[in-house]
Amino acid sequence: MDLGLTGRWALVCAASKGLGAGCAQALVAEGVNVVITARGEEALQAQATRLRGINPKVQVVAVVGDITTEVGRASALQACPQVDILVNNAGGPPPGDFRQWGREQWLSALEANMLTPIELIKATVDGMADRGFGRIVNITSGAVKAPIDVLGLSNGARSGLTGFVAGLARQPQLASRNVTINNLLPGAFDTERLQKTLAAGAEKSGRPLAQVRDQRAAGIPARRFGTAEEFGALCAMLCSAHAGYLTGQNILLDGGSYPGTF
Ligand code: NAD
Repeated sequence: MDLGLTGRWALVCAASKGLGAGCAQALVAEGVNVVITARGEEALQAQATRLRGINPKVQVVAVVGDITTEVGRASALQACPQVDILVNNAGGPPPGDFRQWGREQWLSALEANMLTPIELIKATVDGMADRGFGRIVNITSGAVKAPIDVLGLSNGARSGLTGFVAGLARQPQLASRNVTINNLLPGAFDTERLQKTLAAGAEKSGRPLAQVRDQRAAGIPARRFGTAEEFGALCAMLCSAHAGYLTGQNILLDGGSYPGTF
């Protein structure tokens, strides 16, 4: 199916690696010009080269910067001639015990996983509505639906974003103008972040990494981790010209891990 996205412009945040990179790759394959951001120049430029290889017809602009800062957001927005598609993403907050977290830890989680996406939505959504097309996809987490106790910062900050988006997506001045806002909730995906978590688990328990990895995968009904490619493919489908009636939804990609009916 042609997703009807050729020639659109997307801003994909935090996209040098992992799920953000998967989204950028799928969009580029559909003929979308992209601005990608990340903090580290080397990995970002390598990803930009990969994207140009996927589709030499599109423009790929790499903007180095921290998307959770005002400066980082301003330079990302400035580099994008017109944001038709916004994929909100940033690193997740660290695990821990809430008894150890102070105001600073909470503020940085809120900044990265709630306020940054809201600022970027604010900067782009009305232009999308004026032009009669807009797709916003927020990468959140399965932890919004099934909280993980050690990820309290993530549970809290991302739920705040989810609540905000639920109201905004239903504003008639957006929904009736073909602007959709949805959240993609990853379960366990085989990215650098997951590899680091598994390695930390192996070190802590003194067990071989392969064993920790297999055990974790065995707990997922799909018996495997998700891939950035399949995450990106669903993101591109949500952004497609055909998905204008799908808004305000939380879509879980977790290989069947969530045990509830709804
Ligand atoms: P990753 O660590 O593999 O990749 C993160 C990407 O974001 C990298 O390109 C990194 O350079 C970039 N980045 C991080 N912080 C940034 C910042 N402040 N400014 C600009 N770029 C930044 O992570 P991932 O696995 O792709 O996860 C993406 C998001 O999804 C994270 O918020 C993560 O917590 C969440 N998540 C991931 C999983 C999973 O299994 N991978 C599960 C649930 C939630």
